[in-house]
Amino acid sequence: MLSNHSSKKTYQKSIESLLNEFNTSVNGLSQSEAEHRVYLYGYNQLNTDIKIHKLLLFITQFKSFIIYILLFAVSLSLLTGEYLDATIISAILIANALIGYFQELSAHKSLEVLKKYNRIHAMVKRDGKFITIDAKFLVQGDIIYVSAGDFVPADCRLLDSDQLKVQEAVLTGESVAVSKAPGVLRNTCQIGDQSNMLFSSTSVIDGIATAMVVKTGESTEMGLVTQLIRETDEELTPLQKKLDVFGKKLSLAIIGVCLFIFAIIAANEYWHDGLNLMSLRDIALISVALAVAAVPEGLPAVVTITLSIGVKKLLKKRIIVKRLSSVETLGSCDVICTDKTGTLTRNEMKVTHAWNLDGESLISGEGYEPVGEQSFQLAPLIYEIGMLCNKSSVYQEQGKWLITGDPTEAALMVSAMKIIDTPAVDILEVLPFDSTRKKMSVLVKRATEYFVYTKGAPDPILESCTHVSLHNKIIPITDSLRTTIRSQINHYASQALRVIAMAYKQTQSDEKISEDGLVFVGLQAMIDPPREDVIESIRKTKEAGVRVIMITGDYKETAMAIGKIIGINGRCIEGSELSEMDEKEIQNNLSDGVNIFSRTVPKDKQKIVTALQRQGSVVAMTGDGINDAPALKKADIGVAVGSGTDVAKEASDFILLSNSFSHVVNAIEEGRGIYDNIQKTIMLLMSGNLSEVLIVVLAVIMGWDLPLTVIMILWINLVSDGAPALALAIDPYGKNIMQRPPRRSDEGIMTANQTYFVVLLALITTAYALVLFNNYAHTSLIMAQTIVFNVIIVAEIGLVFAIRLLFETPLRSNLWLWVTVLMTVLLQIIIMYTPAAKIFSVVALDITVLFRVMFIGFLVLLSGTLLSFIYRKKSTQNNT
Ligand code: ATP
Repeated sequence: MLSNHSSKKTYQKSIESLLNEFNTSVNGLSQSEAEHRVYLYGYNQLNTDIKIHKLLLFITQFKSFIIYILLFAVSLSLLTGEYLDATIISAILIANALIGYFQELSAHKSLEVLKKYNRIHAMVKRDGKFITIDAKFLVQGDIIYVSAGDFVPADCRLLDSDQLKVQEAVLTGESVAVSKAPGVLRNTCQIGDQSNMLFSSTSVIDGIATAMVVKTGESTEMGLVTQLIRETDEELTPLQKKLDVFGKKLSLAIIGVCLFIFAIIAANEYWHDGLNLMSLRDIALISVALAVAAVPEGLPAVVTITLSIGVKKLLKKRIIVKRLSSVETLGSCDVICTDKTGTLTRNEMKVTHAWNLDGESLISGEGYEPVGEQSFQLAPLIYEIGMLCNKSSVYQEQGKWLITGDPTEAALMVSAMKIIDTPAVDILEVLPFDSTRKKMSVLVKRATEYFVYTKGAPDPILESCTHVSLHNKIIPITDSLRTTIRSQINHYASQALRVIAMAYKQTQSDEKISEDGLVFVGLQAMIDPPREDVIESIRKTKEAGVRVIMITGDYKETAMAIGKIIGINGRCIEGSELSEMDEKEIQNNLSDGVNIFSRTVPKDKQKIVTALQRQGSVVAMTGDGINDAPALKKADIGVAVGSGTDVAKEASDFILLSNSFSHVVNAIEEGRGIYDNIQKTIMLLMSGNLSEVLIVVLAVIMGWDLPLTVIMILWINLVSDGAPALALAIDPYGKNIMQRPPRRSDEGIMTANQTYFVVLLALITTAYALVLFNNYAHTSLIMAQTIVFNVIIVAEIGLVFAIRLLFETPLRSNLWLWVTVLMTVLLQIIIMYTPAAKIFSVVALDITVLFRVMFIGFLVLLSGTLLSFIYRKKSTQNNT
């Protein structure tokens, strides 16, 4: 660390002494010095990675109910001298732990990738110029710039600020934003009172500031309390929670069944041959095997893996998942609330018309290139206001014209550059644009006179105007003039143009900006064409039963005209009407076909989401501004667009690296597919397990020999089931994925149809296996058991394909699945036709018997196909 000379605290020192101490200046550090400091003192980041301890991860695989039971079985076998059994069970245990270990490791790795994308950026002065860098590279002595919506990237001392307000709840617990300003504090004080300091991870709610970095990484205040944010275990997703509860209930039920079976067999043995330790051991082992057969122990891991594979796929589509559980929620999303500008439209604006009460001018030119003409000579003030009330810049790079900043402002900058020269004025103060006021103003000094120039949404501007400029004269505004202006605004808006109004007033001195008593100057109208892919995406959402609602700050006619082009139809409600409505009225309107909300302020979004949610909808909501954060949090799926503020990103579940609406639709498609794949696995494991339990229980009830040995059950459940289940995690999605309604959010682990499917196929397998068993058990028990063992394996292969049919998955896709199926078959061949047969207590089956065994695969596939066909027929009937 750089030396800390005096005993005074940072907030008690003068800025000069701090600049000295950190060997920097208001112009910031040089790039090379900054790099040197990173080398000396390390990155500006908190150590939130949990290092996974591989040995520990392996050991935790043994911490499960099933494993305890199996360890009990191993000791029982050792006790009774059955060393071979003990060795095989132990080997299967280790194989199972290894599978679990690699599964978890790969899931962890894919989630790690996400962290890379969850970075904070900082605007820092290097070599005298502000540049944007990954906040990780900030060092002590750096000069940074922050504005509303940013996260503070390190602990800093303020150098300069304007109306700065910071939310410090993460550090102080205080939820009210605090005002901050530079200056020296005399007394020692707590963090919450250090008003000249900014702290890492807090968020700027209002205003702007420049500040000097004084602490980075682990030594920041946030670093000191890192346990607050250091990640604990990944939160379980709703489905994982349901599976957890289900698994626990099932385990209890199974213990009951096992005790019951144990009692029946023990009573039977006692009756016939008398009980001895050996038979008790066998009975206990069967009960253990039954427990293993019933509990779908692989499921939680498969869910995590499928989710993490999905997360990777989403990332490829430039969608960052911040909360894993929201991937599941995507599948039940039935409403998307989206903003317009930039999400539905391209946000590449170009002014095409300018208008004042003297006349209208068409403005020519292409893209952002500042070359073009006006068709009618309007007074230059309309362009000057557009140019001065502006934070954007337009520049040329490698022959291409590019912009920085807000595209609306850039369009006004370009139109002005085409027509006027930069006016010789000083800008004394800036009141930035915000979506609630819908205006932006600057105070300028022109020679010896002072003016406020304001631009903004036409209505709020018109409301602030008391006069108009007409033929170079300023006259009071009349109702008829207001009507003329309004009809011109409507005229532009109905052509889907975005309209910005310009106004000004002369003031006496450099007093604070006020936005009233203005003189109306004119309008500039710009095109913002819809994104090409949006029309197709909206069509897709309709087919998928997802409603799209546009919530925009823009004018009603503009919103409706854009809506018409892209396919969002229905009534439109304005923000002012909405503010008068209670929740019931909003719901009535929503049910009554309102799909567009115009001229809204950010807090309206929250009202709309709440109304929709109370109607039972699962709502996805897009947003970017700092004021959108509460609505993004409130929505079931908050989606921040890539260009949005840090605060909006923090509040959301997903971040779109590219702003387009079609990415929200992509995310829904992926979410549905991921959920489908999880359900496929659940169905596969459940149906397989159910048939094993039924086979054993029914045989016991009927007083038969056991159709499966312990080793066989363990093999099926812990080894041969695992690979196809994993391959399903990367299964391609069904063709109908976006042609069916969203999943119901209150749906259980499986739908009713899926449950029938699972049960029916398990019953068929059970019946078939028991019939074959009964046929062969009289000749040779070991052969009959071998048959049942293989019947289950073949039935499961049939099941995989039957389930895929149900989900309309293309047959030949998923090479891995075919590989795992082949592997399973190969392993069965090895088990039966090599010396391994002895270990597994199986015999080699001849070709006729093998055909009989394989017939179950066909039977399962046929029944599955029939059921899928019936379900599909039923669902098309319901839809028509
Ligand atoms: P959406 O909410 O769909 O993104 P929007 O960009 O129109 O739409 P806001 O950002 O709330 O929503 O803007 C509201 C209105 O304020 C706009 O319709 C426009 O007339 C005006 N406006 C937008 N940006 C600026 C700006 N930088 N300066 C002044 N006025 C602006």
